[in-house]
Amino acid sequence: MAVRFVIIGGGPAGVEAAATASRLGAEVTLVERDVVGGAANLWDCIPSKAMIATAGAVALTRRSHALALSLVCGEPDLAALGKRIEEISTRLAASNCQQLESQGVRILRGSGRLVGPHRVEVTPLEGGEPELIDADAVLISTGSSPRVPAWAEVDGERVMTTRHAYPPPTIPEHLIVIGSGVTGVEFVHLFRSLGARVTLVVSRQQVLPLKDAEVAAALEADFLDTGVTLVKGARAISADRVGDEVVVVCEDDRKLHGSHVLLAIGSVPSSAGLGLEQAGVEVNEAGYVPVNQHCQSNVPHIYAAGDLSGRLQLASVAAAQGRKVAEHVMGLHTREHRHLDYDKAASAIFTEPEIADVGLAEAEAFALGRKIRVTKVPFALSAKAMIDGDSRGFVKLISDPATGTVLGGTIVGAHAAELISVIGLAVSARLRVDDIAETVFVHPALAEVLAAAAE
Ligand SMILES: Cc1cc2nc3c(=O)[nH]c(=O)nc-3n(C[C@H](O)[C@H](O)[C@H](O)COP(=O)(O)OP(=O)(O)OC[C@H]3O[C@@H](n4cnc5c(N)ncnc54)[C@H](O)[C@@H]3O)c2cc1C
Repeated sequence: MAVRFVIIGGGPAGVEAAATASRLGAEVTLVERDVVGGAANLWDCIPSKAMIATAGAVALTRRSHALALSLVCGEPDLAALGKRIEEISTRLAASNCQQLESQGVRILRGSGRLVGPHRVEVTPLEGGEPELIDADAVLISTGSSPRVPAWAEVDGERVMTTRHAYPPPTIPEHLIVIGSGVTGVEFVHLFRSLGARVTLVVSRQQVLPLKDAEVAAALEADFLDTGVTLVKGARAISADRVGDEVVVVCEDDRKLHGSHVLLAIGSVPSSAGLGLEQAGVEVNEAGYVPVNQHCQSNVPHIYAAGDLSGRLQLASVAAAQGRKVAEHVMGLHTREHRHLDYDKAASAIFTEPEIADVGLAEAEAFALGRKIRVTKVPFALSAKAMIDGDSRGFVKLISDPATGTVLGGTIVGAHAAELISVIGLAVSARLRVDDIAETVFVHPALAEVLAAAAE
């Protein structure tokens, strides 16, 4: 008899787990109460990057003089932008559903919860009797939602989370962004490019507190160049709407006035109401489900993946976890090297300049007292960067001085999110710097800078 595998939550983790498990012969039911593709499709990766694509086009017109043009950008058409985002999301959801259904996955539209260790109850979206489904294995991949602090009352108009920003009905006159992590800086970039005056509240002394100082400095320089105000060492303690204004108060009594405020201070896991405790699944204080290297919870046949597992909160990592869960459910986990290595996951920040990194970071190596070789080449030396009129940024390659093995890298500059894949592949395949240096890259191409950094 086929393994009965039930998945609650159809984001990247759930979709990938369903596709892989059904390919491997499981009888798969995927329960999703909103959109297949998940928050990643509806609220996070897709709409934010669709807006950033428009913001990038606006930013390009500002730099057009570098290409011997003087393009003048009109006002962005926010209604058309909203429609475009919706269309992309709908198309992606439809293609996910089509692919899964063609593989035999049963998709149930409803809210799922465990009503025993081997039983899931699904309440249909359109009402009616709940359905009970028996399962040999269950994956909980219900994701997370934006964190709303007790000190802010979100009204979705003036006091917003990212979920109210795709796009707002008008470009904010003066947006205050609270939070300078990845999400915060991406929204600063996109709203600044679309024409808003932007103030960023930075709780420490640099934006992107978890990144190398050099990377943060490159982004801060660009923000300052485009007129973003950085308020550093400021911890917000309240954000209130006062008529048509918002007022943000910081711990040290600094008061900031703006037209809108956007909270980008992290997320909370969606673990409530899932029957986890009743099924014996451990949930930690923060609401995440602790998992082992196979994404198993303390109850071996109940898995958690994606944001709920409290690991790297990326759609790409969620999908990779989903694949590993499906392989484990189907008994294909025995080879050690099949474990997911979170340290080798590439990530990107879609600002201008773009930022991407993978593997070991310079600061991390120093903290570990590990000997490394660091080579850094600026895009200013690249023919392609000159041709494109954008020479900002650099490639930094980190390798083992004894063996030449590539350990990590950081790229700041145009198309960093695409270029990092070369270093990502080198890190996961344990290639040496010579392997990159001896590759014949296209000329002229930005990737040539990778070869230069590898020499
Ligand atoms: C603004 C923003 C931008 C981001 N951009 C990127 C990016 O560019 N690249 C990247 O890699 N990551 C990005 N991320 C992170 C990424 O979105 C998440 O890591 C990813 O969505 C997590 O996937 P998941 O599988 O955990 O589920 P999610 O995508 O969170 O989806 C979970 C699904 O579960 C469903 N669900 C919840 N409870 C139930 C229930 N009881 N029954 C049925 N269904 C349920 C929900 O409806 C939802 O569809 C971004 C995050 C944010 C906030």
